[in-house]
Amino acid sequence: MYRSVLVSFVLVAAATVACKGSANSASAANSNTTRSSTLASATTSDTSGAVAGPISTTKTTAPGSAANSAGTQGGNNVSAATGTSFSGPPNPNRVPNEMGRIMVLEYHLITDHNGDYARERGQFRKDLELLYNRGYRPVNMSDVLDKNLNLPKGLSPVVFVFDDASPEQFRYIDNNGKLEIDPTSGIGIWLDFRKTHPDWNNKAVFCLLSGAAAGHNFFGDRGVQGQKSNWRFQKVKWLADNGFELCDHTLWHAQLSKYPDAIVQEQIARNALAIDSAVPGYKIRSMALPQGLWPKNRALASKGSWTNPKTGKTVSYSWPVVFEVAGGPMRSPYDPAFNPGMTPRIQVIGNAIESMIAKLEGSGNAYISDGNPSVVARPAASTTTAAVKR
Ligand SMILES: [Zn+2]
Repeated sequence: MYRSVLVSFVLVAAATVACKGSANSASAANSNTTRSSTLASATTSDTSGAVAGPISTTKTTAPGSAANSAGTQGGNNVSAATGTSFSGPPNPNRVPNEMGRIMVLEYHLITDHNGDYARERGQFRKDLELLYNRGYRPVNMSDVLDKNLNLPKGLSPVVFVFDDASPEQFRYIDNNGKLEIDPTSGIGIWLDFRKTHPDWNNKAVFCLLSGAAAGHNFFGDRGVQGQKSNWRFQKVKWLADNGFELCDHTLWHAQLSKYPDAIVQEQIARNALAIDSAVPGYKIRSMALPQGLWPKNRALASKGSWTNPKTGKTVSYSWPVVFEVAGGPMRSPYDPAFNPGMTPRIQVIGNAIESMIAKLEGSGNAYISDGNPSVVARPAASTTTAAVKR
């Protein structure tokens, strides 16, 4: 199935460049109405399985991971599970520690049920509520890279990452020709939360697919969940224009470990090219490994190139961040061992967020801002308190 999808992507891409094939692709989309519903149902089942949902083997922990060590001693899972200690405002006495760990949360579908690759809408809203009340505020990965974490004293950064570009994350409703964001999609819930929490900024990373099975193509295409193919670029641009960050997740969620170097680079570069078509000149800073699988030549995840055999044009890519699928909270960018080339994440399954907050804060390992942009606050145990941030 992916092969044929790939071919149709080539046609659409070529058509976009030539500026005459939009009719072409539109008519193709129209004539495929019945077929696309077949694809849609196939996608729906894929989504809950291994194809769209990234992992079936690398579940929640990577035991040997160095990044995991910060969270393993807490042992607070039981109290975390009760949830009793997580209501109310953040502790005003949170001790600043800008060498502490930062959670990178990994989401897939925002939908009507919970699962390994799905978060129920009300639960997603509760996640935002929990994090907010505990003193966490969203930042982009680029803010971490740039050490642009200027939060008020006592607050902590958290990075949201949404994988797979599904309509469940970002869906439009056509209201008599005016496109409105569906309030039941992930972005809709996020924006509604912001109305009552104005210091909850539009900061989250979207790791995009641009040529996957119907539905996972820049947040929906070919009628999946009512999404029209020609809304795709508009959605990606809306995200960039409104403060969110774009990330590469390959063309169609290819398991990079299975392919030769040339295909690995084609998968990544052509997806980057599609993002550039949606938001010309956008500087991508990160990619997420489908299913957490590294290519045989690991360096190709962050740097490579592909030459279009038809045009002879070469597309190059280079970025510092590679998101893994699991591994615990990441290190502070002030930590000498900070390694964005292998950024661990936390899969949001069950009470993973509550557990991690309990572990991090119970062990004094959470990144907590001092509110001073020029000094790196270090744990009390350390005698060397002052360091220049930049
Ligand atoms: Zn994925």
